[in-house]
Parts: sequence; structure tokens; C-alpha cells
Amino acid sequence: MAEEKKKRGLLFCVCLGICPSFKDTNEYEVLNAIRREKLVDWVGVHPQLCSTDGDEYLKALLSNSNVGELYVAGCDPVMQKKMFRDAFDAAGFDRDKHIGIEVRNMKTEEVIETIKKLSRKEIKRCRKVLPGSYLAKCHPLSAESLRLCEKK
Ligand code: SF4
Repeated sequence: MAEEKKKRGLLFCVCLGICPSFKDTNEYEVLNAIRREKLVDWVGVHPQLCSTDGDEYLKALLSNSNVGELYVAGCDPVMQKKMFRDAFDAAGFDRDKHIGIEVRNMKTEEVIETIKKLSRKEIKRCRKVLPGSYLAKCHPLSAESLRLCEKK
């Protein structure tokens, strides 16, 4: 049987929904914009990923999963790495497949652009590393995402 293609997911951690750092962001608008362009395979919202139940959520989501890459929009990526480390390890999820995106103190449009830019940057990086064969090998960037990015 053919191996299932790994998927890319984007979670938006809304920091309890009351953090002033997110007061100018409409998280649903952000996620819809990313979905519309099919830059990831799925999106989700969580109120506090760094809490104990946030750990449980990550473990449940990532254990034996087909998630090839997990983007998390929220606080500082370095903080994210530290806070999610145990949950990733418990789930057997490669920590390097987590890409944190700092989106605090931004307006909705800025958040959308930040996430899109990150996708484009990844494409450029992959091209550099894998010239000529990046489309086939550079998981998880899909040909569709690449075409969308090249139009911009
Ligand atoms: S993971 Fe970051 S954004 Fe999410 S609740 Fe914790 S501190 Fe806030």
C-alpha cells in the first residue's frame, strides 16, 4: 500500500483569548485566509497550548499521526520550543517539525502576511537545499502551495 502523504497543520494559540497581545487580531479571519490559499492541510485554534491540557491535546493530535509539520502561531518560537518539548517527545513527534510563528501585537492582516511569508521563505530554503528535485523531496511544501507562492 502507498505511504500516506504527510500533512501540514496550523494551530493558532490564542493565549486564553484575553491576552492584550492579540487584541487586534481576528484569529478566525487569519485561519480562513490561510485555508483559502491552501497553504496548509488543516487549521485549528487552542486557548492555551502551554497548559497541562494543552500538552494532552498536542499528544493526542500528534501521536501516531500523519502530521509532517506543525506550525503554531502564537508567542515567541523559542518559548514554544521549550513549552511543547515534553508533549512532542511523549507523542514521538520530531521537534524539528514544529515551526513557531511569533504573531503577538499585530493586526489581523499582518498576522496573515507573516504566516504567508514564512511559507514562501520555506519554499526558497527548500529550493536552495534541493535544486531540481525540491518538489518531489521537499516535504511538506506541496506543488499547489508553490504555484500560489510563485504567482505573488
Ligand atoms: S503557548 Fe504561548 S500563546 Fe499559547 S497560551 Fe502559552 S504563552 Fe500564550
